[in-house]
Amino acid sequence: MKPFKVRLRFHGDLSVFLGSKSGNAVIERGLAEKTSIKDVIESCGVPHPEVDLILVDEQTVGFDHTLANDTNVEVFPVENRNTYRTDKSLQSVGIASFVADVHLGGLTRNLRLLGFDVAYRQNADDHQLLEVMVRENRALLTRDRRLLMHAIVQHGYWPRSQNADEQTIEVVGRFDLSELIAPFTRCLRCNAPLEEAAKADIIEELEPLTKIYYHQFRRCPGCKQIYWSGSHFPKLQRRVEEIRSRVRGKA
Ligand SMILES: [Zn+2]
Repeated sequence: MKPFKVRLRFHGDLSVFLGSKSGNAVIERGLAEKTSIKDVIESCGVPHPEVDLILVDEQTVGFDHTLANDTNVEVFPVENRNTYRTDKSLQSVGIASFVADVHLGGLTRNLRLLGFDVAYRQNADDHQLLEVMVRENRALLTRDRRLLMHAIVQHGYWPRSQNADEQTIEVVGRFDLSELIAPFTRCLRCNAPLEEAAKADIIEELEPLTKIYYHQFRRCPGCKQIYWSGSHFPKLQRRVEEIRSRVRGKA
């Protein structure tokens, strides 16, 4: 078949994936055979879970669309959703359960602090991450964009920042979770939802001063960790409030 040219323009912050120092978000690809739009977009470095809307010559298309002749393609991230009205969004929001890769321990802890369900294992390999993602219907959080490009990944996100607090704000924004924040309801260590614990049932395990000054406790049914609003609590509360206000500021 006759070789053809595809001109792709990447909108919003999708340019972070292109590796172009000039900030140029337009890429031209010469092709000699029919190719799916998904493959062309990923060949530019942009993982498909980051793509919310594709326009091919001004028509919305899905990932299975095939390119076979000269074409202009516009590619939008979820962050641009408010500027383009369409019922052809390729991504979902409102997903509140995740699996995070080994490099995202800080983000995992923050999201659990906000009450979100995040599966995390310090030594999980790629295969295990994908398996948990599929089996438990979780969105994948990873800084490995090759992993995010894996064909079985349906929902996922590549945190832009390397800072855990920034990443948390990004994830809450990307999946539109600000209304679902429920701080101090989940175990930071093992992810299990916390249960109220009667002081009488746990008093043997408390330090002498904790016994005297605190009366309300929660316990993790998984790892048995006991939580109370002790000296560490104001710091965590400030962190929650800061994340909340910055999420609001972004909306
Ligand atoms: Zn626990």
